[in-house]
Amino acid sequence: MNYDHVRDQDPAVADALTGEVERQNDTLAMIASENHVSEAVLEAQGSTLTNKYAEGYPGERYYGGCEYADEVEQLAIDRAQELYGADHVNVQPHSGSQANMGVYLAVLDPGDKILSLDLTHGGHLSHGHPANFAGQVYEVEQYEVDAETGYIDYDDLREQAEEYDPDIIVSGYSAYPREVEWESIQEAADSVDAYHLADIAHITGLVAADVHDSPVGVADFVTGSTHKTIRAGRGGIIMCDEQFADDIDSAVFPGMQGGPLMHNVAGKAVGFGEALEPEFEAYAEQTVANAKALADQLHERGLELVSGGTDNHLVLVDLRPSHPDTTGKEVEESLEDAGIVLNANTVPGETRSAFNPSGIRAGTPGLTTRGFDEDACREVADLIAEVVDSPDDQDVFAEVAERVDELTDTYPLYD
Ligand SMILES: *Cc1c(COP(=O)(O)O)cnc(C)c1O
Repeated sequence: MNYDHVRDQDPAVADALTGEVERQNDTLAMIASENHVSEAVLEAQGSTLTNKYAEGYPGERYYGGCEYADEVEQLAIDRAQELYGADHVNVQPHSGSQANMGVYLAVLDPGDKILSLDLTHGGHLSHGHPANFAGQVYEVEQYEVDAETGYIDYDDLREQAEEYDPDIIVSGYSAYPREVEWESIQEAADSVDAYHLADIAHITGLVAADVHDSPVGVADFVTGSTHKTIRAGRGGIIMCDEQFADDIDSAVFPGMQGGPLMHNVAGKAVGFGEALEPEFEAYAEQTVANAKALADQLHERGLELVSGGTDNHLVLVDLRPSHPDTTGKEVEESLEDAGIVLNANTVPGETRSAFNPSGIRAGTPGLTTRGFDEDACREVADLIAEVVDSPDDQDVFAEVAERVDELTDTYPLYD
Protein backbone atom coordinates (compact mmCIF):
# COMPACT_ATOMS: atom_id res chain seq x y z
CA MET A 1 0.00 0.00 0.00
CA ASN A 2 1.63 3.26 -1.07
CA TYR A 3 0.40 6.70 -0.30
CA ASP A 4 2.14 8.43 -3.19
CA HIS A 5 0.19 11.67 -3.14
CA VAL A 6 0.46 12.03 0.60
CA ARG A 7 4.18 11.25 0.47
CA ASP A 8 4.85 13.93 -2.16
CA GLN A 9 2.98 16.55 -0.23
CA ASP A 10 3.29 15.56 3.40
CA PRO A 11 6.01 13.06 4.27
CA ALA A 12 5.34 13.25 8.01
CA VAL A 13 1.79 11.99 7.64
CA ALA A 14 2.86 9.49 4.95
CA ASP A 15 5.42 8.02 7.34
CA ALA A 16 2.76 7.52 9.99
CA LEU A 17 0.38 5.94 7.46
CA THR A 18 2.93 3.48 6.12
CA GLY A 19 4.09 2.83 9.67
CA GLU A 20 0.54 1.81 10.53
CA VAL A 21 0.30 -0.53 7.54
CA GLU A 22 3.51 -2.21 8.68
CA ARG A 23 2.31 -2.35 12.26
CA GLN A 24 -0.87 -4.13 11.18
CA ASN A 25 1.06 -6.45 8.89
CA ASP A 26 3.68 -7.35 11.49
CA THR A 27 1.63 -7.75 14.66
CA LEU A 28 -1.34 -9.86 15.72
CA ALA A 29 -4.42 -7.67 16.09
CA MET A 30 -6.30 -9.37 18.91
CA ILE A 31 -8.28 -6.43 20.24
CA ALA A 32 -11.71 -8.03 20.04
CA SER A 33 -13.33 -4.94 18.51
CA GLU A 34 -10.80 -4.63 15.69
CA ASN A 35 -10.55 -6.19 12.25
CA HIS A 36 -8.91 -5.53 8.87
CA VAL A 37 -11.11 -4.36 5.99
CA SER A 38 -10.49 -5.24 2.37
CA GLU A 39 -8.70 -2.92 -0.03
CA ALA A 40 -12.07 -2.42 -1.75
CA VAL A 41 -13.56 -1.04 1.47
CA LEU A 42 -10.47 1.12 2.00
CA GLU A 43 -10.79 2.55 -1.50
CA ALA A 44 -14.48 3.29 -1.08
CA GLN A 45 -13.76 5.05 2.22
CA GLY A 46 -11.03 7.07 0.54
CA SER A 47 -13.29 8.16 -2.33
CA THR A 48 -14.41 11.63 -3.40
CA LEU A 49 -17.68 11.09 -1.56
CA THR A 50 -15.82 12.68 1.36
CA ASN A 51 -16.46 15.96 -0.48
CA LYS A 52 -20.21 15.57 -0.69
CA TYR A 53 -22.87 17.00 1.58
CA ALA A 54 -25.94 14.78 1.61
CA GLU A 55 -28.06 15.90 4.55
CA GLY A 56 -31.34 14.02 4.44
CA TYR A 57 -32.01 10.56 3.04
CA PRO A 58 -31.94 9.03 -0.48
CA GLY A 59 -34.41 10.90 -2.68
CA GLU A 60 -35.01 13.58 -0.02
CA ARG A 61 -31.84 15.62 0.32
CA TYR A 62 -31.32 19.21 1.34
CA TYR A 63 -28.57 19.70 -1.24
CA GLY A 64 -28.25 19.21 -4.97
CA GLY A 65 -25.85 16.84 -6.68
CA CYS A 66 -26.76 13.83 -4.56
CA GLU A 67 -27.39 11.39 -7.40
CA TYR A 68 -24.43 9.14 -6.57
CA ALA A 69 -24.68 9.69 -2.84
CA ASP A 70 -28.25 8.38 -3.15
CA GLU A 71 -27.09 5.34 -5.10
CA VAL A 72 -24.43 4.46 -2.58
CA GLU A 73 -26.62 4.95 0.49
CA GLN A 74 -29.46 2.94 -1.07
CA LEU A 75 -27.05 0.10 -1.83
CA ALA A 76 -25.85 0.13 1.79
CA ILE A 77 -29.45 0.09 3.05
CA ASP A 78 -30.62 -2.66 0.68
CA ARG A 79 -27.65 -4.87 1.50
CA ALA A 80 -28.05 -4.37 5.25
CA GLN A 81 -31.72 -5.27 4.90
CA GLU A 82 -30.79 -8.42 3.04
CA LEU A 83 -28.15 -9.33 5.62
CA TYR A 84 -30.28 -8.77 8.71
CA GLY A 85 -33.86 -8.96 7.49
CA ALA A 86 -34.68 -5.63 9.15
CA ASP A 87 -37.76 -3.60 8.18
CA HIS A 88 -35.92 -0.33 8.39
CA VAL A 89 -32.21 0.48 8.35
CA ASN A 90 -30.37 3.75 8.96
CA VAL A 91 -26.72 3.60 7.83
CA GLN A 92 -25.78 7.17 8.73
CA PRO A 93 -24.59 7.00 12.38
CA HIS A 94 -20.92 7.95 12.46
CA SER A 95 -20.19 5.24 15.04
CA GLY A 96 -21.78 2.62 17.24
CA SER A 97 -22.06 5.09 20.10
CA GLN A 98 -23.94 7.50 17.85
CA ALA A 99 -26.25 4.72 16.77
CA ASN A 100 -27.17 4.28 20.44
CA MET A 101 -27.53 8.02 20.86
CA GLY A 102 -29.94 8.04 17.91
CA VAL A 103 -32.15 5.44 19.58
CA TYR A 104 -32.17 7.23 22.94
CA LEU A 105 -32.98 10.51 21.26
CA ALA A 106 -35.80 8.89 19.30
CA VAL A 107 -37.63 7.33 22.25
CA LEU A 108 -36.39 8.77 25.56
CA ASP A 109 -36.77 12.13 27.25
CA PRO A 110 -33.99 13.53 29.45
CA GLY A 111 -34.31 11.94 32.89
CA ASP A 112 -35.86 8.72 31.55
CA LYS A 113 -34.56 5.45 32.94
CA ILE A 114 -32.06 3.10 31.31
CA LEU A 115 -31.31 -0.39 32.63
CA SER A 116 -28.02 -1.69 31.22
CA LEU A 117 -25.07 -3.95 31.99
CA ASP A 118 -22.33 -2.50 34.20
CA LEU A 119 -19.21 -1.47 32.24
CA THR A 120 -16.93 -3.61 34.41
CA HIS A 121 -19.18 -6.60 33.66
CA GLY A 122 -18.94 -6.13 29.90
CA GLY A 123 -21.25 -3.20 29.13
CA HIS A 124 -20.35 -0.14 27.05
CA LEU A 125 -19.81 3.54 27.91
CA SER A 126 -22.73 4.56 25.71
CA HIS A 127 -25.07 2.37 27.77
CA GLY A 128 -25.07 4.95 30.56
CA HIS A 129 -21.65 5.35 32.15
CA PRO A 130 -21.39 8.61 34.12
CA ALA A 131 -18.50 9.77 31.88
CA ASN A 132 -20.72 9.41 28.78
CA PHE A 133 -23.62 11.63 27.70
CA ALA A 134 -25.98 8.71 28.31
CA GLY A 135 -25.09 8.67 31.99
CA GLN A 136 -25.45 12.44 32.23
CA VAL A 137 -28.74 12.88 30.40
CA TYR A 138 -30.63 9.82 31.60
CA GLU A 139 -31.11 8.04 34.88
CA VAL A 140 -29.25 4.74 34.84
CA GLU A 141 -29.36 1.54 36.81
CA GLN A 142 -27.13 -1.36 35.91
CA TYR A 143 -27.34 -5.12 36.00
CA GLU A 144 -24.43 -7.49 36.42
CA VAL A 145 -23.43 -10.93 35.26
CA ASP A 146 -23.69 -13.76 37.78
CA ALA A 147 -20.53 -13.61 39.93
CA GLU A 148 -20.13 -17.40 39.95
CA THR A 149 -20.91 -18.33 36.35
CA GLY A 150 -20.06 -15.15 34.42
CA TYR A 151 -23.38 -15.54 32.58
CA ILE A 152 -26.28 -13.11 32.54
CA ASP A 153 -28.98 -14.29 34.91
CA TYR A 154 -32.16 -13.53 32.97
CA ASP A 155 -34.46 -14.18 35.94
CA ASP A 156 -32.52 -11.68 38.06
CA LEU A 157 -32.64 -9.20 35.21
CA ARG A 158 -36.39 -9.52 35.00
CA GLU A 159 -36.76 -8.98 38.74
CA GLN A 160 -34.50 -5.97 38.60
CA ALA A 161 -36.55 -4.57 35.74
CA GLU A 162 -39.73 -5.01 37.73
CA GLU A 163 -38.24 -3.13 40.67
CA TYR A 164 -36.60 -0.33 38.68
CA ASP A 165 -39.28 0.09 36.01
CA PRO A 166 -36.95 1.36 33.26
CA ASP A 167 -38.03 3.07 30.02
CA ILE A 168 -35.48 1.09 28.05
CA ILE A 169 -33.40 -2.04 28.67
CA VAL A 170 -30.10 -2.22 26.82
CA SER A 171 -28.59 -5.57 25.89
CA GLY A 172 -25.57 -6.40 23.72
CA TYR A 173 -22.09 -6.05 25.14
CA SER A 174 -18.38 -5.25 24.74
CA ALA A 175 -16.82 -8.05 26.73
CA TYR A 176 -19.37 -10.83 27.07
CA PRO A 177 -18.15 -14.13 25.63
CA ARG A 178 -21.49 -15.93 25.65
CA GLU A 179 -24.57 -16.14 23.44
CA VAL A 180 -27.17 -13.53 24.40
CA GLU A 181 -30.79 -14.69 24.81
CA TRP A 182 -32.62 -11.80 23.18
CA GLU A 183 -36.08 -13.25 23.80
CA SER A 184 -35.54 -13.41 27.56
CA ILE A 185 -34.52 -9.76 27.65
CA GLN A 186 -37.44 -8.82 25.41
CA GLU A 187 -39.77 -10.57 27.87
CA ALA A 188 -38.25 -8.58 30.75
CA ALA A 189 -38.76 -5.37 28.75
CA ASP A 190 -42.33 -6.30 27.83
CA SER A 191 -43.15 -7.12 31.44
CA VAL A 192 -42.46 -3.49 32.42
CA ASP A 193 -43.54 -1.89 29.16
CA ALA A 194 -39.99 -0.74 28.36
CA TYR A 195 -38.24 -0.58 25.02
CA HIS A 196 -35.46 -3.05 24.31
CA LEU A 197 -32.31 -1.89 22.52
CA ALA A 198 -30.06 -4.77 21.44
CA ASP A 199 -26.60 -3.35 20.73
CA ILE A 200 -24.84 -5.94 18.59
CA ALA A 201 -21.75 -3.74 18.00
CA HIS A 202 -19.35 -6.61 18.66
CA ILE A 203 -21.26 -9.34 16.89
CA THR A 204 -22.70 -7.62 13.79
CA GLY A 205 -20.76 -10.06 11.62
CA LEU A 206 -21.71 -13.13 13.62
CA VAL A 207 -25.39 -12.16 13.49
CA ALA A 208 -25.18 -11.37 9.76
CA ALA A 209 -23.75 -14.84 9.14
CA ASP A 210 -26.24 -16.52 11.48
CA VAL A 211 -23.58 -17.89 13.80
CA HIS A 212 -25.19 -15.91 16.64
CA ASP A 213 -28.96 -15.65 17.15
CA SER A 214 -30.36 -12.43 15.71
CA PRO A 215 -32.26 -9.85 17.79
CA VAL A 216 -33.74 -8.36 14.61
CA GLY A 217 -37.50 -8.83 14.81
CA VAL A 218 -37.22 -9.50 18.56
CA ALA A 219 -35.84 -6.29 20.09
CA ASP A 220 -37.48 -2.93 19.30
CA PHE A 221 -34.15 -1.48 18.20
CA VAL A 222 -30.93 -3.08 17.04
CA THR A 223 -27.77 -0.99 16.80
CA GLY A 224 -24.31 -2.00 15.71
CA SER A 225 -20.89 -0.96 14.61
CA THR A 226 -19.71 -1.81 11.12
CA HIS A 227 -16.02 -2.43 11.84
CA LYS A 228 -15.76 -5.25 14.39
CA THR A 229 -16.84 -8.74 13.31
CA ILE A 230 -18.14 -7.31 10.03
CA ARG A 231 -15.57 -5.61 7.81
CA ALA A 232 -17.46 -2.63 6.45
CA GLY A 233 -15.27 0.17 7.79
CA ARG A 234 -15.69 2.40 10.81
CA GLY A 235 -19.27 3.43 11.48
CA GLY A 236 -22.64 2.60 12.97
CA ILE A 237 -26.06 1.30 11.94
CA ILE A 238 -29.58 1.29 13.41
CA MET A 239 -32.32 -1.23 12.59
CA CYS A 240 -35.95 -1.15 13.65
CA ASP A 241 -39.54 -1.93 12.69
CA GLU A 242 -41.27 0.33 10.20
CA GLN A 243 -43.32 1.96 13.00
CA PHE A 244 -40.16 3.60 14.40
CA ALA A 245 -38.56 4.43 11.03
CA ASP A 246 -39.40 8.15 10.95
CA ASP A 247 -38.48 8.68 14.61
CA ILE A 248 -35.09 7.03 14.13
CA ASP A 249 -34.33 8.84 10.88
CA SER A 250 -35.15 12.25 12.30
CA ALA A 251 -33.21 11.50 15.52
CA VAL A 252 -30.09 10.75 13.43
CA PHE A 253 -30.59 13.71 11.10
CA PRO A 254 -31.30 16.48 12.04
CA GLY A 255 -31.45 15.27 15.65
CA MET A 256 -27.80 14.57 16.35
CA GLN A 257 -25.78 14.70 13.13
CA GLY A 258 -25.43 16.96 10.14
CA GLY A 259 -24.14 15.59 6.86
CA PRO A 260 -23.54 11.84 6.79
CA LEU A 261 -19.96 10.64 6.14
CA MET A 262 -20.85 9.48 2.64
CA HIS A 263 -17.40 7.97 2.02
CA ASN A 264 -17.95 5.79 5.07
CA VAL A 265 -21.45 4.94 3.88
CA ALA A 266 -19.76 3.78 0.66
CA GLY A 267 -17.43 1.61 2.77
CA LYS A 268 -20.46 0.14 4.50
CA ALA A 269 -22.09 -0.63 1.14
CA VAL A 270 -18.98 -2.47 -0.09
CA GLY A 271 -18.45 -4.31 3.24
CA PHE A 272 -22.10 -5.39 3.42
CA GLY A 273 -21.78 -6.63 -0.16
CA GLU A 274 -18.80 -8.76 0.89
CA ALA A 275 -20.78 -10.08 3.87
CA LEU A 276 -23.52 -11.29 1.50
CA GLU A 277 -21.03 -13.58 -0.25
CA PRO A 278 -20.97 -17.23 0.90
CA GLU A 279 -17.32 -16.89 2.00
CA PHE A 280 -18.40 -14.54 4.74
CA GLU A 281 -20.38 -17.24 6.50
CA ALA A 282 -17.28 -19.44 6.50
CA TYR A 283 -15.28 -16.50 7.86
CA ALA A 284 -17.72 -15.94 10.74
CA GLU A 285 -17.81 -19.66 11.57
CA GLN A 286 -14.02 -19.80 11.55
CA THR A 287 -13.85 -16.72 13.79
CA VAL A 288 -15.89 -18.54 16.44
CA ALA A 289 -14.04 -21.84 15.99
CA ASN A 290 -10.78 -19.93 16.41
CA ALA A 291 -12.00 -18.25 19.60
CA LYS A 292 -12.96 -21.63 21.01
CA ALA A 293 -9.52 -23.05 20.16
CA LEU A 294 -7.88 -20.03 21.77
CA ALA A 295 -10.06 -20.45 24.88
CA ASP A 296 -9.36 -24.19 25.15
CA GLN A 297 -5.63 -23.74 24.91
CA LEU A 298 -5.52 -20.81 27.36
CA HIS A 299 -7.44 -23.00 29.78
CA GLU A 300 -5.08 -25.88 29.10
CA ARG A 301 -2.24 -23.55 30.08
CA GLY A 302 -3.84 -22.84 33.45
CA LEU A 303 -5.57 -19.53 32.75
CA GLU A 304 -9.07 -18.89 34.03
CA LEU A 305 -11.70 -17.69 31.57
CA VAL A 306 -14.72 -15.67 32.62
CA SER A 307 -17.73 -17.97 32.05
CA GLY A 308 -15.30 -20.83 31.39
CA GLY A 309 -15.04 -20.33 27.64
CA THR A 310 -16.71 -18.64 24.69
CA ASP A 311 -19.60 -18.87 22.24
CA ASN A 312 -18.46 -15.95 20.11
CA HIS A 313 -15.33 -14.18 18.86
CA LEU A 314 -13.77 -13.19 22.18
CA VAL A 315 -12.35 -14.55 25.40
CA LEU A 316 -11.97 -12.78 28.72
CA VAL A 317 -9.18 -14.00 30.98
CA ASP A 318 -9.36 -13.35 34.72
CA LEU A 319 -5.72 -13.33 35.81
CA ARG A 320 -6.45 -13.30 39.55
CA PRO A 321 -6.85 -17.03 40.24
CA SER A 322 -3.74 -18.14 38.33
CA HIS A 323 -1.52 -15.03 38.56
CA PRO A 324 -2.68 -12.94 41.53
CA ASP A 325 0.28 -10.56 41.31
CA THR A 326 0.04 -9.86 37.57
CA THR A 327 -2.24 -7.14 36.24
CA GLY A 328 -3.95 -6.93 32.88
CA LYS A 329 -2.04 -3.76 31.98
CA GLU A 330 1.32 -5.47 32.59
CA VAL A 331 0.31 -8.35 30.35
CA GLU A 332 -1.02 -5.98 27.68
CA GLU A 333 2.29 -4.08 27.62
CA SER A 334 4.49 -7.17 27.65
CA LEU A 335 2.48 -8.76 24.85
CA GLU A 336 2.66 -5.60 22.79
CA ASP A 337 6.46 -5.73 23.04
CA ALA A 338 6.23 -9.23 21.62
CA GLY A 339 3.89 -8.21 18.78
CA ILE A 340 0.55 -9.39 20.17
CA VAL A 341 -1.86 -6.50 20.56
CA LEU A 342 -4.81 -6.99 22.88
CA ASN A 343 -6.27 -5.02 25.75
CA ALA A 344 -6.38 -5.12 29.51
CA ASN A 345 -10.01 -5.42 30.59
CA THR A 346 -12.03 -5.33 33.75
CA VAL A 347 -13.53 -8.61 34.86
CA PRO A 348 -16.78 -9.21 36.76
CA GLY A 349 -16.14 -8.48 40.44
CA GLU A 350 -13.14 -6.33 39.53
CA THR A 351 -10.89 -5.66 42.52
CA ARG A 352 -8.40 -3.35 40.79
CA SER A 353 -9.23 -0.30 38.66
CA ALA A 354 -10.48 0.34 35.13
CA PHE A 355 -7.00 1.67 34.22
CA ASN A 356 -5.14 -1.30 35.60
CA PRO A 357 -7.67 -4.11 35.67
CA SER A 358 -7.33 -7.81 36.44
CA GLY A 359 -8.17 -9.24 33.05
CA ILE A 360 -7.26 -9.35 29.40
CA ARG A 361 -9.69 -9.55 26.49
CA ALA A 362 -8.69 -11.19 23.23
CA GLY A 363 -10.60 -11.68 20.00
CA THR A 364 -10.13 -13.60 16.77
CA PRO A 365 -11.83 -11.45 14.06
CA GLY A 366 -8.53 -9.93 12.88
CA LEU A 367 -6.53 -13.16 12.96
CA THR A 368 -9.29 -14.99 11.09
CA THR A 369 -9.25 -12.32 8.38
CA ARG A 370 -5.56 -13.14 7.89
CA GLY A 371 -6.40 -16.82 7.47
CA PHE A 372 -5.58 -18.22 10.92
CA ASP A 373 -7.12 -21.60 11.70
CA GLU A 374 -7.59 -23.36 15.05
CA ASP A 375 -4.03 -24.72 15.14
CA ALA A 376 -2.57 -21.26 14.59
CA CYS A 377 -4.84 -19.88 17.32
CA ARG A 378 -3.74 -22.59 19.75
CA GLU A 379 -0.17 -21.55 19.02
CA VAL A 380 -1.08 -17.94 19.76
CA ALA A 381 -2.64 -19.07 23.05
CA ASP A 382 0.66 -20.72 23.95
CA LEU A 383 2.53 -17.52 23.17
CA ILE A 384 0.15 -15.49 25.35
CA ALA A 385 0.50 -17.99 28.19
CA GLU A 386 4.30 -17.87 27.96
CA VAL A 387 4.30 -14.10 28.38
CA VAL A 388 1.74 -14.22 31.20
CA ASP A 389 3.91 -16.77 33.01
CA SER A 390 7.05 -14.61 32.66
CA PRO A 391 5.91 -10.99 32.59
CA ASP A 392 9.46 -9.61 33.09
CA ASP A 393 11.56 -11.98 31.04
CA GLN A 394 13.06 -10.27 27.97
CA ASP A 395 14.28 -13.61 26.60
CA VAL A 396 10.73 -14.93 26.57
CA PHE A 397 9.48 -11.78 24.79
CA ALA A 398 12.20 -12.16 22.16
CA GLU A 399 11.29 -15.78 21.57
CA VAL A 400 7.59 -14.96 21.34
CA ALA A 401 8.34 -12.04 19.00
CA GLU A 402 10.18 -14.41 16.69
CA ARG A 403 7.22 -16.79 16.58
CA VAL A 404 4.91 -13.83 15.90
CA ASP A 405 7.15 -12.87 12.95
CA GLU A 406 6.83 -16.37 11.55
CA LEU A 407 3.06 -16.31 11.94
CA THR A 408 2.65 -12.89 10.31
CA ASP A 409 4.84 -14.06 7.42
CA THR A 410 2.77 -17.21 7.00
CA TYR A 411 -0.50 -15.24 7.08
CA PRO A 412 0.19 -11.99 5.20
CA LEU A 413 -2.25 -9.10 5.28
CA TYR A 414 -1.84 -5.94 3.15
CA ASP A 415 0.55 -5.66 0.17
C1 LIG B 1 -17.78 -0.95 20.23
C2 LIG B 1 -19.09 -0.79 20.85
C3 LIG B 1 -19.93 0.27 20.48
C4 LIG B 1 -19.56 1.31 19.47
O1 LIG B 1 -18.44 1.99 19.67
P1 LIG B 1 -17.91 3.13 18.67
O2 LIG B 1 -16.49 3.16 19.06
O3 LIG B 1 -18.66 4.36 19.03
O4 LIG B 1 -18.17 2.71 17.27
C5 LIG B 1 -21.21 0.34 21.02
N1 LIG B 1 -21.64 -0.61 21.85
C6 LIG B 1 -20.89 -1.66 22.22
C7 LIG B 1 -21.47 -2.69 23.11
C8 LIG B 1 -19.58 -1.77 21.74
O5 LIG B 1 -18.83 -2.80 22.12
